[in-house]
Amino acid sequence: MVADPTFPMYLQEAVSQSLDALIKGKVPDAVTVSSNYFGGAGTLYEKETVAIIECILDHDFTPDPTIKPKALKTLRVIAAAMELWGESDVQEFAEVSGDWTHKFKPEEVIQLLYAAGLERHRLDHLRHAGVRKIAVRNGADQAARDCQETIGRVFAIEEAPILPHGNPACRCSYAPVPSS
Ligand SMILES: [Zn+2]
Repeated sequence: MVADPTFPMYLQEAVSQSLDALIKGKVPDAVTVSSNYFGGAGTLYEKETVAIIECILDHDFTPDPTIKPKALKTLRVIAAAMELWGESDVQEFAEVSGDWTHKFKPEEVIQLLYAAGLERHRLDHLRHAGVRKIAVRNGADQAARDCQETIGRVFAIEEAPILPHGNPACRCSYAPVPSS
């Protein structure tokens, strides 16, 4: 547990405290910092939040394999913190723009890592609900090219492809397919 935080705590201070906890893998502590800041929340909510954050942090998805593991880990931690804070509150901690030469911007990578965690969490939920098959659906009017080949296809839930596709334009998600 986190020691009694000093009140009032400034937002920036709270965000950086939760990032510290996330870097150390202390997910419940990070969630506690956030719920204390916002005046406390129910334990059910916290349990769900911990599960989502673990899905983001434990994921091995990367939209670009040339991003170095250390930088990727930082971005993953920031993506996880997005579940606790507003997107704009965490962006300033993404200080990786100096020698950034990758195809996607750090903000885009963070969004993809965040989406990947949410989709994995959603897949876990579907599996627990007894869903055996999923389809890949897309909410956008025009699907990105790498998405097109999986949209509409049905997979056994154990063989579900990782979503999102490694592309900031991807809006794909899992949809349960009723078993007949
Ligand atoms: Zn896609």
